[in-house]
Amino acid sequence: MAQSITHPVISPAADTPVTPLPLRAVLPWAVFVGTLMLVLLYFVGAEQGATSVFSGAGVHEWVHDGRHLLGFPCH
Ligand SMILES: [Zn+2]
Repeated sequence: MAQSITHPVISPAADTPVTPLPLRAVLPWAVFVGTLMLVLLYFVGAEQGATSVFSGAGVHEWVHDGRHLLGFPCH
């Protein structure tokens, strides 16, 4: 089959069988990325005042724009 601009070949390997990823291989990475996202969400959303892990306002200033962008209460 000739390839042209009006009739492009979308997937030349369309007859290749697709093997799904096993859940056992994906699950550790999903847990790792989920935990990382929860930690990031904590630092963006709750790292200030009485709940702060680190003293001072350094972490708060680093994520300040993200806090406002995501609609977390700030000041
Ligand atoms: Zn603010």
